[in-house]
Amino acid sequence: MYVQPAQGCPGGQLQLGSMSKQTESSQADQLRLLPQVDRLSAELDGAAPHALKVQAARRAVAGAGAAVRDGRPAPSFEDLVQIAQSLLHKQQRLGLGPVINATGVLLHTNLGRAPLSADALEAVQEVSRGYSNLEFDLTRGKRGSRYEHCAGTLTTLTGAGAALVVNNNAAAVLLALAGLCAGGEVIISRGELIEIGGEFRIPEIMTQSGAVMREVGTTNRTHLRDYENALNENTAAILRVHPSNYEVTGFTASVPAWELAKLAKRHGRRFINDVGSGLLSRQIGAVAPAWLSKEPSVTHAVKEGADLVTFSGDKLLGGPQAGIIVGTLEAVARLRRIPWLRTFRTDKTALAALDATLTAYLRGEPELLPLWRMALASAESVAERARQLASTLSQSPAEIQVTEGSSTTGGGSAPGSRIPTALLRVEPADTGSRQIADRLLAHDPPVVGRIEDAAVIVDLRTVQPHEDAVVGAALVEALGER
Ligand SMILES: *Cc1c(COP(=O)(O)O)cnc(C)c1O
Repeated sequence: MYVQPAQGCPGGQLQLGSMSKQTESSQADQLRLLPQVDRLSAELDGAAPHALKVQAARRAVAGAGAAVRDGRPAPSFEDLVQIAQSLLHKQQRLGLGPVINATGVLLHTNLGRAPLSADALEAVQEVSRGYSNLEFDLTRGKRGSRYEHCAGTLTTLTGAGAALVVNNNAAAVLLALAGLCAGGEVIISRGELIEIGGEFRIPEIMTQSGAVMREVGTTNRTHLRDYENALNENTAAILRVHPSNYEVTGFTASVPAWELAKLAKRHGRRFINDVGSGLLSRQIGAVAPAWLSKEPSVTHAVKEGADLVTFSGDKLLGGPQAGIIVGTLEAVARLRRIPWLRTFRTDKTALAALDATLTAYLRGEPELLPLWRMALASAESVAERARQLASTLSQSPAEIQVTEGSSTTGGGSAPGSRIPTALLRVEPADTGSRQIADRLLAHDPPVVGRIEDAAVIVDLRTVQPHEDAVVGAALVEALGER
């Protein structure tokens, strides 16, 4: 703690922590001896930008100054270099960079959700390296619209009349409500008033959109008659939101989307269906995984009838962050006329990545997308890789096992889904599992695993096979020698 010199104290009394004349002068000497910021920054990691090195050096010197004024000894020059280097390192780690996801959560929201395919990455490069026809109509040689780019593919894939791509699904829901329901009432089941990721809450989105929320039913059970009884002359729409990050089990009831669509239509009202995860179809290539059996698919939602269906691009669609709205021509046209639509428009890189991702579905090859390749890998193939990895750790002071477990989709999709997998269970001999996990995070690139009691758990399902060796090296380093 830094305490002001005592001269100004009322009554001239010395306060706790104040200093004698002698310590004051020796402190002044010590402060004078602290190195110049430039001299210190010159010692730091050559590759870092100069401005960051100077900033780290300045903070290190300031910290040393505070310590001296606090009565502690000044650090040596070597120590200061270490301190500044570690500050610089910390600062650089605040920047966005790759990590290895060994959590087994396929769409880990904190780790960037779906990885992009090689085709998507190439498409991003191609439109970003130079200019593109982002808003240029090549058939007429005139100004075009960015909203046209993925629309055709999306309508072909989903069977909807029209499509609109925006920044994320939160924006898609807000636009759908604002475009079709502002000033009117929107009926929604109390079982669907969800919160996603702390910021996106249906009641708040409703308020923002200018619509009035009309809750019906109860948390666990809502019936068709609840919706019927709530319909009135102010009703603009019925909204259905898929509870995508939790499950209500036990004594439950909800109304299927097709019945809500029919009810809305009979009364000349809108039906909006936020399906969330963007699973296009439960059939992925040749397989229909059991753990997807309860997740609504976009194509099915379109068939069931809705003015608008909304979903994310980076959940079970396996593409970039985007909010996708498909629906009737008329409803989508109304959203296109919202004057602030621009505030949610996507950039060319996301559109390029989305187009390439959708093309994999058009070709009938979704299983080639990284998301589905990881999700559909057999537990045995993950186990084989885990055993391989375990064999490289035989010299490490830890108990290593390959056990059965489950991966999950996460990221607001298929709640409760359990995909059988194999786990590498690493129980360090004399270090805490937390400490090993911290060392894995400090590795370059960082490896994010799970902690279960005394063990660090690595699920290779979400690790790209070419990264297995990196995970192995990080573990060897983190565990040290026997
Ligand atoms: C994930 C999700 C959202 C929000 O989507 P983002 O793309 O993350 O903005 C909205 N509604 C549902 C049902 C979701 O699952």
